Parts: sequence; structure tokens; C-alpha cells
Amino acid sequence: MSAPFYVQGAWFVGALLFIFGLKGMSSPASARKGIVIAGYGMLLAIAATFVIPGLQNLGLMALALVLGGGGAWFSAKKVKMTDMPQMVAIYNGMGGGAAAAIAAVEFAKGEMHGLVATTLAVLGALIGAVSFTGSCVAWAKLQGVLKKAYRLPAQNAVNVLLAIVAVGLGVTVIVLAPQQPELVIAFFVVALVLGLIVTLPIGGADMPVVISLFNAFTGLAVGFEGYVLGNPALIIAGIVVGAAGTLLTQLMAKAMNRPLSNILFTPMVASGPGEAISGTMKEVGAIDAAAMMRYASKVVIVPGYGMAVAHAQHKVWEMTSILEEAGVEVKFAIHPVAGRMPGHMNVLLAEAGVPYDKIFDLEEINGEFAQADVALVIGANDVVNPTARTDKTSPIYGMPILNADQAQNVIVIKRGKGTGYSGVENALFYTDNCRMLYGDAQPMAGEIIQHLKAMS
Ligand code: NDP
Repeated sequence: MSAPFYVQGAWFVGALLFIFGLKGMSSPASARKGIVIAGYGMLLAIAATFVIPGLQNLGLMALALVLGGGGAWFSAKKVKMTDMPQMVAIYNGMGGGAAAAIAAVEFAKGEMHGLVATTLAVLGALIGAVSFTGSCVAWAKLQGVLKKAYRLPAQNAVNVLLAIVAVGLGVTVIVLAPQQPELVIAFFVVALVLGLIVTLPIGGADMPVVISLFNAFTGLAVGFEGYVLGNPALIIAGIVVGAAGTLLTQLMAKAMNRPLSNILFTPMVASGPGEAISGTMKEVGAIDAAAMMRYASKVVIVPGYGMAVAHAQHKVWEMTSILEEAGVEVKFAIHPVAGRMPGHMNVLLAEAGVPYDKIFDLEEINGEFAQADVALVIGANDVVNPTARTDKTSPIYGMPILNADQAQNVIVIKRGKGTGYSGVENALFYTDNCRMLYGDAQPMAGEIIQHLKAMS
């Protein structure tokens, strides 16, 4: 059924709102507004769909909206910031699954006309199905439901074989469908299994990159199915998501200095015993840490995953404000993959009210560590590990790091001797200029605040 011009027009306006929304999301200052604008675009696109003349199953559509929208509202309100990657994974999987389902319904109706539409439907179904099962595995790994990586013997050969079978079945479907429903079913089954088999061996450490890649896949699949349905909102939204997901995947792979092929097909493990680390870890108390910062001219704060886990961002900002009132210059240094998602730290700091002009990217701030009296590393580990520069056997070798080790003094707040995400020891903690302040980031920041207040 082709939609009348006013519905097409509303879909087009919805698609424009998605683009304006995405533009807003390019800066933390306008991101919230951007997401609201994109939300209005989605609302308009859905509302327009309901007024297509002669539409059937309105009740079912409304029920799907209530169930889907209600579930999303509830889980988005409840989700912890640290669980955000798996939430993104599951929503992304739903998008891929929905694109594959659109193709399945069109094949079942037997109304697919023309080589281009059929080819795009098959492509969208293949990519969407892979993204669906792959994203479900990604969710299960990040949620701790699946605890280990399952690797088949000759895993890469199995991947290639399954991909060839899926593409072969897809081509046959294009030529013969819809006369051969069993072929269509076989095609979908192989595509779904392909998503599972490709994702199961990938370790949890690489999951966020994989999620971002599946995000790009889902966008592409949705765009293709948008063409099949003649829906410009789906086409544009799909292309926008596909492009954004591709750029994000590249950015993450670059920030970890690992080619995408390496992330997808090689497990992240050390290739040798690693460089010997000399020195000892030296402890410091909260009162001394407070004094070192209170009487410093310049402090650079490096937040990491531990700050997110501890929800310490509000206390960190309170501490920063006290230091600034005392005349200390304070800046925040953000590594592109600090935390568990790109932008993770920026979002947390923005939520706590830290002004954007105090937050600096790796390239902007790295030259300033040498002039800092104190680098305060709070719940970060891998992103300040100097062995990434020198130890060729390390799984993080080559990852650009924040030069915290170049500051006059380094204070590290963490709970104990736990390693970072990559599982490797951090040479920074053993250097002469580094002091460890052991404890949960939030109470520790609280203690520093108490001592700073007492010093003023
Ligand atoms: P890490 O995961 O390397 O280290 C976090 C540190 O925080 C741990 O050593 C831990 O030590 C400490 N910690 C945990 N909980 C607390 C707490 N409550 N209070 C204080 N400290 C705590 O984090 P980074 O941010 O430095 O690095 C991110 C890592 O994640 C990188 O390896 C990156 O490649 C990877 N990654 C990031 C992605 C992204 O997009 N951001 C995507 C994929 C991977 P202890 O247990 O001793 O407290």
C-alpha cells in the first residue's frame, strides 16, 4: 500500500528532524536538545503512519507501541550508567530484528515486486538478522549472562562458510522467492545463526566496538527495508545511523589502536610475559592528597570507569569547585575510550554540572601534563598505563594514553590492586612520583573535600 502525499511529507519532515537531532548531538552542550528533536521526529513519523487510509490491525499496532514504548520508558528510567552499553546492544538488536521482520513479512505476503526491491529486502534481512542475534550475544556477555567466549575449532573458516551459505541462499531467494517459502526460512535461519557464531568468540573487552559495528549494520538494514516499504523516514534514519555507527566504530578501533579485523577475529590476550615493572606502590592518605592539590597551581583530573561505578562525579565536581575557589587551575582529561562507551565520561561530568570548557580531549591536554603539579587519576587504569607505549607484548600496546605519568605528582584513587579492563598491570602505579589512595572513589572524594574545607 503506498502512502498518500501528506503521510510521505510528514515522514520526510520526521527524517529532517532526525538529522537536526543528530547535529545537536555532536556537542555535549546541545546533545539533550538534539535527542528531544529526534524524538519529535520519531513521534511525527509514527503518528503519520497511523493516518494512512485503509490501514488494518490498528489495535495490534497500538498494542505494540504500548508494550515497546512502555518497556523502553521503564528500562531507560531504571538503567544504571554503567549498564548503558548492554542497553544500547539490546535496543540495537531490536532494530536489526525489526528490519529482518519487515523483509520476512513482505516475503510472506508475496507482494515483493522488482529486482531492486527484492535484492534490498534480502540484504536488509541478512544484515538485520546478523545484527539481531549478534547484539543479543553482546547483551548477554556485558550483562554477565554469558561469562566466557566460545571459540569453535577453525572458527574463522566456519564464519566464512556460513557467510557463503547465507549469501548463496539470499541470491536464490532473490531469483525464486516467493515461490519457495522453505528457501526463505532456511535463509533466515542461516543468517540468524551467522550472527551468533560470529559474535560468540569475541571477548567482553571488545564488545562495545562490536555493538557499535552492529549499530551501523542495523542502520543499513533499516535503510534497505525503508526502500522496500517506500518510507523516506526509514531510509534517511537508517542511512544516518549506518554512517554514525561506522564512524564511531572507526573512532573506537583507532583509540584502541587495533584494526577492526583484529577485534573481530583475534582474541585480546598478551602475546608474551610482558615487561618487568620495577618500583613499589606507595600509599598516601586523603589528608596528604588534599594538601598536595590545595597547594598546587595546576591539577589535571583523569576520570575512568571506576568513577562511573562509584557514581563519584558529583563529589569530584564539588572538590574541583573548592580547589578553584582556592586559586588552583583544574582541568579534566578525557581519553576517547575511558569508561565503557565513547563519551561515557563526558556524559557523567556534564550530568554533575562540570562546564564543557574544563573538559579536554587527549590531543588537547596531553602536552599539559608536564606542567601539572598533580594528576589525579580517579578510577582509571588502562588509559594511563605507560606500558602501552613500550611493551610490544601487551594487549594495549600502541593505544594512545593520557600522559599522567609526566605530571610532577600522580595520585591514583582506586579500591585495591585490581587491574583495568585489559587485565594488565599498570607501570604508572609503581613510579616514584605516584601515590595510591585506596578506597571507593566516592567516599574518597568526600574525604578529600572534608580536608580541603578544613584547610580553607
Ligand atoms: P579500566 O577499566 O582500565 O580501570 C578502571 C579501574 O577503576 C580499575 O583498575 C579499578 O581498580 C578501578 N575501580 C573500579 N571500581 C572502582 C570504584 N568503585 N572506586 C574506585 N576505583 C574503582 O578503566 P579506564 O577507564 O582506564 O579504561 C577503559 C578500558 O575499557 C580500556 O581498556 C578501553 O579500551 C576499554 N574499553 C572502552 C570502551 C569505550 O568505548 N569507552 C569500549 C571498549 C573497551 P580496583 O578494582 O582496584 O578498584
